[in-house]
Amino acid sequence: MNQPNIDIDSIRKQFPILHQQVNGKPLVYLDNAATTQKPQSVIDALTKYYSVDNANIHRAAHTLAARSTEYFEDTRKTIQQFINAREAEECIFTKGVTESINLVAQTWGRKFLSAGDEVVITALEHHSNIVPWQIICEEKGAILKVIPINDAGELLMDEYEKLLSAKTKLVACVWVSNALGTINPVKVIIEKAHAVGAVVLLDGAQACSHLEVDVQALNCDFLTVSSHKLYGPTGVGVLYGKRALLEAMPPYQGGGEMIKEVTFTHTTYNEIPYKFEAGTPNIGDVIAFKYALDFVSGIGKYNIATHENDLLNYFSKGIQLINQSTNQSITLIGTAQQKISVQSFTINGMHHFDAGMMLDAKGIAVRTGHHCTQPLMQRLGLDGTIRVSFSVYNTREEIDILLYALTKLLRLS
Ligand code: PLP
Repeated sequence: MNQPNIDIDSIRKQFPILHQQVNGKPLVYLDNAATTQKPQSVIDALTKYYSVDNANIHRAAHTLAARSTEYFEDTRKTIQQFINAREAEECIFTKGVTESINLVAQTWGRKFLSAGDEVVITALEHHSNIVPWQIICEEKGAILKVIPINDAGELLMDEYEKLLSAKTKLVACVWVSNALGTINPVKVIIEKAHAVGAVVLLDGAQACSHLEVDVQALNCDFLTVSSHKLYGPTGVGVLYGKRALLEAMPPYQGGGEMIKEVTFTHTTYNEIPYKFEAGTPNIGDVIAFKYALDFVSGIGKYNIATHENDLLNYFSKGIQLINQSTNQSITLIGTAQQKISVQSFTINGMHHFDAGMMLDAKGIAVRTGHHCTQPLMQRLGLDGTIRVSFSVYNTREEIDILLYALTKLLRLS
């Protein structure tokens, strides 16, 4: 791969949170798969919204309301371009990926699933793409099937094909695994699902900050996006859905904004996307999310991915060297051919939680535990891992600090 065309120093300067000491050491933030840090432009947009523009959107004649509405809808246009949706109306604002998936399960699922129908997920799913389907399958008498994985954390595509049949109504698949970093072959997954008439939902929580997203080229039916994993505020997500599907779905929640006309005996519903946006949304955070999307687009996904892949390779080589001198004391978990910059690992003789605490004492933030993927951990025979996840603002120097800290930990184990 070519060198990325990015200036890390100037990128790091945009993230005030990175420039602090934690436990007396410079912060090394390697928990980006849980949430990314926010650039100054996002923080400024939030402050400006509440200092200058705050008003409820869509329903008032005054200037502040018009301004807030315009900025809110600007974010919708920006996310439309970011994922290349055909229309901005196909992008619904939610609280996050969890709510986006629950919305589909509780509306599409409630209307279109019946007893004996099958929903296919993968062994790599986050709980948020398991539990909503369990709930609706139980209610409807539908059956949940799971695509298995190999030990590297890759989907067994032959097994996937065997699961598909005329009974398959939906395939809900994580694009990129948050626990292992595996990039799933979603284009093929979608084509095969469509061949049996199934609808496909992609969980894009981890994918959207690392990979190019083009929902039209992918031809997915639904895609979920999380702002806080994309340098944006928490409490904001997007559900992309094809217009025809969204129009056929019943509303998710009832209330203001989602209606056309209400009487005490009958209500007619608003057009998409408003049909699915009942109540006052998270206006300020949605507005600030645009600046996060602009931040990513300004750097470019190619540059981001190239830099992050370099960090992942650098880290993997560092672990190899440590293992050579310590009798293989670190085991990498998740070694798929196609990966983003997320790496889980375990340390012989040391609980992941203790390792996480000791790294924290050195100012290094990593995630430990099951990563909201308990069935995956069960498949791997683990109760948890240590997970590092690299982002555009991380550096090789930070990985050196991590590798040095791990070498010291190994002396204690
Ligand atoms: N799916 C995956 C793969 C994730 O990594 C996460 C968050 O960790 C989620 C879903 C949930 O996303 P959100 O926090 O936006 O609800």
